[in-house]
Amino acid sequence: VFEQSHLLNTLPKQFFASLVAKVNTIVEKGHDVINLGQGNPDQPTPEHIVRAMEEAVRNPQYHKYSPFRGQTFLKEAVATFYKREYGVEVDPASEVAILFGGKAGLVEVPQCLLNPDDVVLVPDPGYPDYWSGVELARAKMEVMPLLSENQFLPDYKSLSRDAVEKAKLMFLNYPNNPTGATANESFFDETVSFAKENDICVVHDFAYGAIGFDGKRPISFLQTTGAKDIGIEIYTFSKTYNMAGWRIGFAVGNPSVIEAINLLQDHMYVSVFSAIQEAAAHALLSPQTCVEELNARYESRRNALITAVREIGWDVLAPSGSFFAWLPVPKQFDSSEEFSDFLLQHAHVVVAPGVGFGEYGEGYVRVGLLTSEDRLREAAQRIKALNLF
Ligand code: PLP
Repeated sequence: VFEQSHLLNTLPKQFFASLVAKVNTIVEKGHDVINLGQGNPDQPTPEHIVRAMEEAVRNPQYHKYSPFRGQTFLKEAVATFYKREYGVEVDPASEVAILFGGKAGLVEVPQCLLNPDDVVLVPDPGYPDYWSGVELARAKMEVMPLLSENQFLPDYKSLSRDAVEKAKLMFLNYPNNPTGATANESFFDETVSFAKENDICVVHDFAYGAIGFDGKRPISFLQTTGAKDIGIEIYTFSKTYNMAGWRIGFAVGNPSVIEAINLLQDHMYVSVFSAIQEAAAHALLSPQTCVEELNARYESRRNALITAVREIGWDVLAPSGSFFAWLPVPKQFDSSEEFSDFLLQHAHVVVAPGVGFGEYGEGYVRVGLLTSEDRLREAAQRIKALNLF
């Protein structure tokens, strides 16, 4: 047995691994569990994308190493996609990096830009992989609380002056996991000014860029004037095209950050399998009917869930994007973990305790819209039977 490095030992504990273990004990007893705790899209990849992959895999050129830094055709497709969807000009040669999924890019960026003890501003609650990236870079994390009274947007004025002066990098994520909040233009304008004033690089995680409700399409950070001077956006095929298992995404924006990502990746990988890159380009360039359908499906599920939980007396806010609802823990419970354990034991419903997303996540649970409307309604009915509200 070999000891793990100090670096590995400093990585944050995978909070949700213990939840999976608890769920398995209930499943093993033969109970019908409704699992709303995870973030894994339940629908298959659209047929036309699978077909593009099937054809591409037969190209013997693709059986060799893919070109370092990705296929030009995919980077050009990214530029076409950003122009068509967001009106943003992107130079495929210098402003796009191909990633093994969004997670890879999010974890790589701190290692690309930071030195030990540099400060990173991280949203809390937030996607836990930001913490992993910060730890791997041996940097320091300063949390930006996301509070309901601020529509789950950070309040830059309330951050410690000292931390802001030391900060070199910040993460943002809208539509937001876990709160379901979305950002508007004025918040992104304020972000660009704040980042410029304080010389901070912004990494906007746009994983849920395709999922926005009530007729409001999520906006790209790069639509904001000056955004490319101070940041990048990370996009993934996982959610938009139900391609979570394919492991492909991209970073787009500031050329110096893109160059740093590419340089790090030159040392670690070659590039994503070209057949996957070809299918990904096909996804971006094809009519986006499948994306409209996906968004409509999540909106119907959101409506079903929110209506059903309000009907049982649970006073909740409806998410405006992403595929998560962020629901307050009823007063009679001391913590989000106690409440989620209770739901698992007594209703066989799994929700993710908010504290797993940071200390400001305490008081909430995250519910995924990743099953049918009927199952979401059934979950609400099972919770109703517990007479909590
Ligand atoms: N960012 C957020 C906020 C996410 O929720 C996820 C996945 O759950 C990702 C990034 C990473 O997605 P992937 O690595 O599959 O591209």
